[in-house]
Amino acid sequence: MAEIVLDQVSKRYPDGALAVSEVNLTVADGEFIILVGPSGCGKSTTLNMVAGLEDITSGELRIDGERMNERAPKDRDIAMVFQSYALYPHMTVRENMAFPLRLAKVDDDIVRRKVDEAAQVLDLTEHLDRRPSNLSGGQRQRVAMGRAIVRDPKAFLMDEPLSNLDAKLRGQMRTSLSRLQKKLGTTTLYVTHDQTEAMTLGDRIVVLQGGNVQQIGTPQHLYDEPANLFVAGFIGSPS
Ligand code: ADP
Ligand code: MG
Repeated sequence: MAEIVLDQVSKRYPDGALAVSEVNLTVADGEFIILVGPSGCGKSTTLNMVAGLEDITSGELRIDGERMNERAPKDRDIAMVFQSYALYPHMTVRENMAFPLRLAKVDDDIVRRKVDEAAQVLDLTEHLDRRPSNLSGGQRQRVAMGRAIVRDPKAFLMDEPLSNLDAKLRGQMRTSLSRLQKKLGTTTLYVTHDQTEAMTLGDRIVVLQGGNVQQIGTPQHLYDEPANLFVAGFIGSPS
């Protein structure tokens, strides 16, 4: 269960660039929020601040009402999935997915159960004994997600997780993600610049430009009533 609140959150990097400017966003528990916008608009910076990988320059980040600004990443109970999914080549799928739980010294039988559950949700049950080199790109990305899921995090942060996949696999992964969301209902912040992903996966979409929020709304709302030409262009143009 997690409600994530960004309250006037800004990020200025040490070299002076204002990457994110006074963003206000309340992500309801279980909501799937999409962040879109052109390269350099502050999507990754926003996610990294929520994860605790970047400091917040001003404003407040709250998760379930608690201030997170100074809290270490590992104490935020959030799992991040990146586009480059580094799996351990010498480990099986099961071992890769179990790795975060081993680090946390979780009991063997619980590890086994968590991995089995995650594998089932992600359609990986048949592949648990394989090594990453014997998997397709889509399967590898699902293993990376499995590694995030096994920890039962309060929230998922995903930064363009499908951008390395071809169109067909992206389509399959969209379906996997929808199913995952229905089953787990975990609060998710998801960065993409794929319109189809944004329109089909998002409960709401946040459109960013130059570190500023241009509009926040449901896919339908943004499509029907874009706040400006920038949003219209971004949401309306075919991917
Ligand atoms: P996006 O993910 O939307 O492409 P980023 O959040 O990566 O955008 O970047 C937002 C802005 O912050 C860009 O102008 C980028 O050059 C700058 N930026 C990102 N990371 C750093 C960094 N570590 N140091 C300095 N500037 C950065
Ligand atoms: Mg980025």
